[in-house]
Amino acid sequence: MQLLVTGGAGYVGGCVAAVLIESGHDVTVLDDLSTGHADAVPDGAQFAQLPIERAGEAMQGRGFDAVLHFAAKSLVGESTVAPDRYWHANVGGTLALLDAMRAHGVGRIVFSSSAATYGEPESVPILESAPTRPTNPYGATKLAVDLALGSYCGAFGLAAVSLRYFNVAGAYGRFGERHATETHLIPLALQAAAGQRAALSVFGGDYPTPDGTCVRDYIHVLDLADAHARALGAAAPGEHRIYNLGLGEGSSVRQVIDAVERVTGRPVPHAVEARRAGDPAVLIASGAKARAELGWAPTRTLDQMVADAWAFHQR
Ligand code: UDP
Repeated sequence: MQLLVTGGAGYVGGCVAAVLIESGHDVTVLDDLSTGHADAVPDGAQFAQLPIERAGEAMQGRGFDAVLHFAAKSLVGESTVAPDRYWHANVGGTLALLDAMRAHGVGRIVFSSSAATYGEPESVPILESAPTRPTNPYGATKLAVDLALGSYCGAFGLAAVSLRYFNVAGAYGRFGERHATETHLIPLALQAAAGQRAALSVFGGDYPTPDGTCVRDYIHVLDLADAHARALGAAAPGEHRIYNLGLGEGSSVRQVIDAVERVTGRPVPHAVEARRAGDPAVLIASGAKARAELGWAPTRTLDQMVADAWAFHQR
């Protein structure tokens, strides 16, 4: 297929684009490099350095079969202090992209949604039918796009799949997590193990979980890539499908620290500190729908995610 990958110079978008190229697709990456890196655009991709608002220019005369839409701002904390940036980039940017798709006859989209659309869950594992009550602007913007996709599918025959990622981790060769402002647990724990950071702050030791630390559902970026390929094939005109992507099992912050120590053979200096605002105690995906409808079966363990992220970190 001829594919336009927005945000393909970022962590998840770059990995997925690389995998799609390897499986024979023609990929054009659209990225403004506001947070991505030019050297993260995969080999074999064409590259249009443009803001998402100008996606139409990249579509001119290209006959794309589908768009994979990763380009977004994705820091929860930042979204609470600069919500305007998040609404403009994530929602305004996506509406411009959808306009361009309609203008250029591109009828299929796979969208990077988020577990943050659910907010504090009533029960885990989280089903796609769970209430969506995001607790921060980032999650609200992802939900707003999901809602827009639903109405565009109904009215305009768009084929859309929203993939709600839980905690993406791991790396694929030269494609890995490399944020100017790193807020994610595994890269921070690896930095602490490598001696590049004095200690990891563990946000809260008094949660109602077996060891008192937060539990999350980590998913390898290559398993995520496989889900995108399947979603591309499953998208159908007039339908908006939503799938949660996680392993369906939780790991606590302490278990992640243990995994990092096991894999690197180094201690992770850490200190238990206050809870981070807005962190639910437990977030675990139900992967049942993606398994049943996409045939998706993630296989990579937490140790593999940490090992691949560590190899990337050492490059
Ligand atoms: N966390 C932590 N210390 C850090 C960063 C994260 O204890 O320096 C915890 C955080 O409270 C959450 C888990 O690690 O329970 C995963 O956080 P991350 O920011 O990686 O992803 P999120 O779940 O917020 O999307």
